[in-house]
Amino acid sequence: MPRPGTLAPVLRSALASRGGKCYRHCDRPIETRGVASPLPGLWQVHACPSGVVSVTSYAERTRRDPTKAVRTVLRAWSVPPRLVRSWDLRLATRHGPELGRAAERFLGSTGPRRGVRVVYWRVYPTRGRDGIERRLFVCFRRRHKTPVFFVAPSTSRAAACPVCGPRERPGATAAGTYRDD
Ligand SMILES: [Zn+2]
Ligand SMILES: [Zn+2]
Repeated sequence: MPRPGTLAPVLRSALASRGGKCYRHCDRPIETRGVASPLPGLWQVHACPSGVVSVTSYAERTRRDPTKAVRTVLRAWSVPPRLVRSWDLRLATRHGPELGRAAERFLGSTGPRRGVRVVYWRVYPTRGRDGIERRLFVCFRRRHKTPVFFVAPSTSRAAACPVCGPRERPGATAAGTYRDD
């Protein structure tokens, strides 16, 4: 018996990202990473190869509002935790028709009581008094057990992860080794 809130495979694939390109940053394809957490639902971090995050989402089949639990997890993953502001979290309920036929059939057959609730975390770029644009980055290096979210200048090629970045050799980025192309 799966944990309550866990998403069946048909729902996971219905919610899978269709890709897209990194908007107004590098034009490279967005990659989607799944992340494990103490919560039962599905995490997806959408980021470009340099580690610039477009959106992070958490989906759970539930009647409750998972926003608070999501905020707690995101704060544990962010340096500093106050990067996660309540107004950057948006809750949406996804219904069968918008998830496609297979998912709609599945939802109908397993009871309409619990929808799929998705919490989106989107942080828009900011420009400081110094004129430098800063964006949300994520680091997935294995030196830490969880993803690490942090803010750094958009142009940063060696976006320094505050947890593991300083020890990395020059030329590396938050998401891995930078390839000059
Ligand atoms: Zn990018
Ligand atoms: Zn790191």
